[in-house]
Amino acid sequence: MVIDRIRNLIKGVSTSESNEYSQIITNLSLDIENDKNDIELIKKAFDIGYAAHKGQLRKSGEEYFNHCTLVGLELSKWNMDRDVVISGLLHDTLEDTNLTREDIQLHFSEDISNLVEGVSKLSDIKFNSRKQKQAENFMKMFLSIAKDIRVIIIKFADRLHNLRTINHLSLIKQRRVAEESRDIFVPLAHRLGMNNVKTEMEDIILRTLEPQIFSKLKKKIKDSKKKREKYISEFISPLKEELSNLEIEANVFGRAKNYSSIHYKMINRKKEFDEIFDLFAIRIVVDRVEDCYAALGIVHHIYTPVQDNFKDYIATPKGNGYQSIHTTVIGSLGKMVEVQIRTQPMDRTAEVGIAAHWTYKEHKSALQDKETDINRHIKWLRELIENLQNESENKNPKEFLKLLKIDLFQDEIFVFTPEGDLVQLKSGSTPVDFAFEVHSQVGLHCIGAKINSKIVPLNATLKSSDYVEILTSKKQTPNYAWLKFVKTAKAKSHIKRWVKKDENEKSVKLGKEVLEKTLRRLKQISVINDIKKTPSLMGFNS
Ligand code: MN
Repeated sequence: MVIDRIRNLIKGVSTSESNEYSQIITNLSLDIENDKNDIELIKKAFDIGYAAHKGQLRKSGEEYFNHCTLVGLELSKWNMDRDVVISGLLHDTLEDTNLTREDIQLHFSEDISNLVEGVSKLSDIKFNSRKQKQAENFMKMFLSIAKDIRVIIIKFADRLHNLRTINHLSLIKQRRVAEESRDIFVPLAHRLGMNNVKTEMEDIILRTLEPQIFSKLKKKIKDSKKKREKYISEFISPLKEELSNLEIEANVFGRAKNYSSIHYKMINRKKEFDEIFDLFAIRIVVDRVEDCYAALGIVHHIYTPVQDNFKDYIATPKGNGYQSIHTTVIGSLGKMVEVQIRTQPMDRTAEVGIAAHWTYKEHKSALQDKETDINRHIKWLRELIENLQNESENKNPKEFLKLLKIDLFQDEIFVFTPEGDLVQLKSGSTPVDFAFEVHSQVGLHCIGAKINSKIVPLNATLKSSDYVEILTSKKQTPNYAWLKFVKTAKAKSHIKRWVKKDENEKSVKLGKEVLEKTLRRLKQISVINDIKKTPSLMGFNS
């Protein structure tokens, strides 16, 4: 420990000549000739950050600013732009040093000072186990996403480094940080499509919270490595050959899945390690979208596909932007093998998710496009937040917890009941769909609706974050016309069932009337009791 400390003190002397500094310059593809200003500014961030944190040490004994340089470095690996990397280098200055917002604005820019301030605000949020607090904090977190998602990306780099160095904390703190990451950062990383960050976090969380399970699993994966690699290489070699025969450029490889996903597969499927077939996945990365389908053809030609396990997320991307073709085929020894096929940009999006939208080079050329793209992605989130902001005073904290469980599928909308409960519907849904979703009795008797307190027709189209109130009347019943505009299967089937039942009842009533009338005319009305008692007289069983 003492030696570490001395070594680190010596190491920290000239930060802007450090390894991390030159790696950042390389990662951002900055050129000494043409990008002089960018390089100068990054150097300045190193110097100012280092000076500001001077004398502060981390729990590990190393200089505090090392943490900041590694956060900046991580952001540059994610191809973040200059301003985000600089904000990463300075992300703890407002909280932990004498530097002010104005200083940062003066030395750098308003954008950078906003980002640093945003990260500090997030750090102010202290999560604790009480549900109420947590929910409020989730909301604040969402609010900052809405403001500038780059703040969240910097926060992820910060959290990731803190998790990587979690061993230096006390056991109690380790648990707290791991749980908080599990409850907040992992679900958020998933929603933002930051797959690499998510899996690395999950593994550290598992190692921290379940050290014994983790080490057992680690040993098993290590022990089975040789066998697995042999299998993978035998599996991919005919694929590679055929791809090259057809002159399709492709990177084909297989890799063990991360520890926590194997762990949860074992738990969910109640299986032992040796029984899990998809311990690894094969990936084929090609140049063009057409090649993906050609590669799929090759895979299915060489191996027998398992029919139910085919998914085309290229044609229909996941809500978090993920695109890929997934298929499961039967490899040698009857083993089922998952194959993922995608292009390089799709591969990149799959790893860094929403962060891919700030890739440095693209930032210069197509900033406008990228921003509209992002806006589209998180539009519903913004709308939701605006509503929560207005209504947050006395909302049920459970609602915010629920929010985290909702996937960002674009063909779905989220609306609120008057009590603030969140209801998920197909996009294009109407108040009638909403009514049946809430309760079949509400649907069957709905007579009118209000959206955001305004009376609307029953076939009005709902949009995300609307507050929907249904007016009911005991006398009201569904009618055929509703079937023309309802969108959800639930509403359709309820209405059809009711209409059928209604027609049935009406027929029975009518039949009874005709029968009674006729018997009365024939002065044989007493026969009706005989028929009721023994319907078989008439050849019926009821
Ligand atoms: Mn930090």
